[in-house]
Formats: sequence, C-alpha cells, structure tokens
Amino acid sequence: TKQMFDMLKEQARIDALTGLKNRAALDDALSGAISAYQRLGQPMSLLMLDLDHFKRVNDAYGHPLGDVVLARTTRAIQSMLRADDIVGRFGGEEFVVLLPGADLQQAIGAAERCRAAIEAMEIPEVPDLSVTASVGVAGFPEHGDGLDELLRRSDRAMYSAKARGRNRVESAGPTR
Ligand code: GH3
Ligand code: MG
Ligand code: MG
Repeated sequence: TKQMFDMLKEQARIDALTGLKNRAALDDALSGAISAYQRLGQPMSLLMLDLDHFKRVNDAYGHPLGDVVLARTTRAIQSMLRADDIVGRFGGEEFVVLLPGADLQQAIGAAERCRAAIEAMEIPEVPDLSVTASVGVAGFPEHGDGLDELLRRSDRAMYSAKARGRNRVESAGPTR
C-alpha cells in the first residue's frame, strides 16, 4: 500500500542507531529551514559536534560499546535542545544541529550546554570512561548565507576546537 511505502521511505531517512535524521534527511531539512530563515531575514546557527578520540573508545571497549555511547550522546544533545531544532547524524561520530532563530551568542550557549551534557554522561557499563566532544559554531548571516558555507565554517571551527585541546566550543571567526 502507499501508506506502507511512505513509512518505509521515511524509515530509510532515519539513522537506526540514534533515531536521528541521516545525512540525506538532514540535507533536506537543513536546506528547507535555511531558505525559510534567509527569506525571513531571521538569524539561525549551525553546530558541528564531533566526539573526541572516539576511535580509542572503540579500540579499548569494543564497537558495541561505542554504539551505546553514540546513542547516549544523542539523548544528551537532544535534552539540551528545543523541539524545533534540527539534529542529524552527519557521519560516524559527528552530529549537526541547526538552531532556527538562534543568533551566534545563543548558539554558543547551546553548544556549551551540549558539550557539558556529554562530559557529564554516566556510562555505567564503563564507569571510568570519559566522553567529550568538540563543537564548532557558525551563524547566519555573519558566517555565510547558505548551507554549504555554514557547514564549512562550523566544520573549520570544530577543527580549531580540536586543535585547541578538545572538549571545547569554538565559533567561526569574522568573515571579511
Ligand atoms: P578526534 O578527536 O580527532 O575526532 O579523534 P577520533 O578518534 O574521534 O576521530 P577519527 O575520525 O579518527 O575516528 C572516528 C572513529 O569513530 C572511527 C570509527 O571507528 C568510529 N565510528 C564511526 N562510526 C561509528 C559507529 O557507528 N559506531 C562505532 N562504535 N564507532 C564508529
Ligand atoms: Mg572524533
Ligand atoms: Mg569525526
């Protein structure tokens, strides 16, 4: 039936491990939201969040435990966000969040709350495991006016958070 087909189609856009939008669904949701906010001239911000030294977690405790950490990280992030924020799994252990209506300062605040929530996660299976994340923040309009540019700027900011010691939030620099 068409209903069944639509349901399967929708499931193909959801990441099975985390329940988040997958890359394709995320691209669509981000493009739609970004054009809407551009038209309105309203601020919005993008977070790029990547777990720190995640390969070590897999190497030390196994891939299944790594999967558990990814699922709990998802919940930690979601608990810090609003219902209309768009969250997706961008790649392996990388998450993207669009905060519609949030200016850069508000986005930095949200990024910091996500970072702190991840650091505070309890992993009862491995009590001494510490999980942290590095987060890059880019804002519309100051850091770009389209999806590609905002993704690029937030990704670069995330890498500078890694370079500056990880477990921290960096925002994109001023554009000339
Ligand atoms: P960095 O702090 O620089 O980000 O170091 P890292 O080890 O997190 O970065 P790197 O990109 O080298 O490794 C990411 C690791 O994430 C590699 C891969 O084993 C792991 N990973 C990616 N997807 C999954 C997944 O679905 N499940 C599990 N358990 N691990 C995953
Ligand atoms: Mg990583
Ligand atoms: Mg990564």
